[in-house]
Amino acid sequence: MTIPARTDYDVVIVGGGVIGLFTAFHLSKQMDPRRILVLDRGFATGGASGRNGGGVRQQWETRATIRLARESVQIYRHFARDFGYNPWFRQGGYLFLAFSEGETRILHNMERGVQSEGLPIRYLRPDQIATVVPDLDSRSVVGATYLPTDGVILPFPVIWGLLNALRERGVEVAYRTSVDGILVNDGKVQGVVTGKGPVRAGRVVNAAGGWSREISAMAGLAPLTRPTLHEILATEPLTPFLDPMVVTLSRGTYFSQTMRGEVVGGLTMDHSASSRTGMYSSREFLVEMSREFCRLVPRLADVRILRSWSGFYDDSPDGLPILGEDPKLAGFFQANGFGGHGFMLAPSSTRQVARMVLGEKADIDPAMVSPSRFSGSSGNRSVEGLSLG
Ligand SMILES: Cc1cc2nc3c(=O)[nH]c(=O)nc-3n(C[C@H](O)[C@H](O)[C@H](O)COP(=O)(O)OP(=O)(O)OC[C@H]3O[C@@H](n4cnc5c(N)ncnc54)[C@H](O)[C@@H]3O)c2cc1C
Repeated sequence: MTIPARTDYDVVIVGGGVIGLFTAFHLSKQMDPRRILVLDRGFATGGASGRNGGGVRQQWETRATIRLARESVQIYRHFARDFGYNPWFRQGGYLFLAFSEGETRILHNMERGVQSEGLPIRYLRPDQIATVVPDLDSRSVVGATYLPTDGVILPFPVIWGLLNALRERGVEVAYRTSVDGILVNDGKVQGVVTGKGPVRAGRVVNAAGGWSREISAMAGLAPLTRPTLHEILATEPLTPFLDPMVVTLSRGTYFSQTMRGEVVGGLTMDHSASSRTGMYSSREFLVEMSREFCRLVPRLADVRILRSWSGFYDDSPDGLPILGEDPKLAGFFQANGFGGHGFMLAPSSTRQVARMVLGEKADIDPAMVSPSRFSGSSGNRSVEGLSLG
């Protein structure tokens, strides 16, 4: 069968990463799956969904994000059973480190919010940290939070499981098919222009990750998000020594150990002054990350780095994702702005997107995530301060 098989659908989703595929999956449970088309100009896992660190955490500042993450953890816990692909979701926890009194206040504040949502988070004094990560040099650490039900997942089987489920249900997923334009008439979406011709649809979902601003621009909308390059690396495999994902508030450094023994991690670098474009890896990152490894876990000093790679975060202005119908264009739905956290928030936030696409009321406060929150003068908007790492 040629895909797309038809020239009209009810819903077209732009982007076949974890956000687009999970949105299609939730939709397919409530409408005719054959009326859904997912378009992607690349290949499965070519975007950030195949390039991330697989961290899944529920330690957040805003209630909305904690709830989305908590629901996602439940979905990932049962993913292998429900989708027939095992993403090796390992709940070894997340350890957030504070290096100053100011940072401990941030952690205490977050701890209260997370605890009030029923999650078993603990505050650790420096002398208690060794019980969680014995190899960590905690001499300059002032405090930490630890949530043992956070974890790490392998992204690829999630994408394969979703693709398999969608194909079994009859949803069309067309890779190597670009979206080059959005058809609009009288303030309403009419479909998309693809590299293979026009496709009509009354509802279009912008799930293009780091390229979502380009899709918004095609629809004549001012872009809300901004792509930022993020680098990551993996060491040679080591005997298991690290249970949780370790994160620092100051640098956004994060690292965990995979089931194969590699230590995988990254940190926040400012690439804005670089003349390089596209996805690249820099020597500066290798140096900075090596320094962080040596500072935090001295025994990593002699370990070899095997590979590094990069991808785009899709950053929103307030650290919260952008979900829902765009107020300026009927039928055009945003599902983007996930920054470095789209994989962990995908299962639950796309359930919200699917509800909105189907005209149902979302069960998340729309003021937190709606695209309309950036228009007008909503001076006391929430900001997710823990959108780091
Ligand atoms: C290095 C790195 C580490 C990360 N670590 C984590 C982590 O530990 N935990 C976590 O939760 N998240 C992490 N993230 C973020 C996470 O990977 C993303 O938020 C998530 O994968 C976004 O999924 P997506 O489907 O929106 O985007 P993508 O997976 O990027 O998919 C977007 C798709 O849109 C397609 N597209 C773009 N333009 C067009 C067009 N014109 N026509 C058709 N198709 C188009 C692209 O080909 C792409 O496949 C990390 C990201 C990076 C880069």
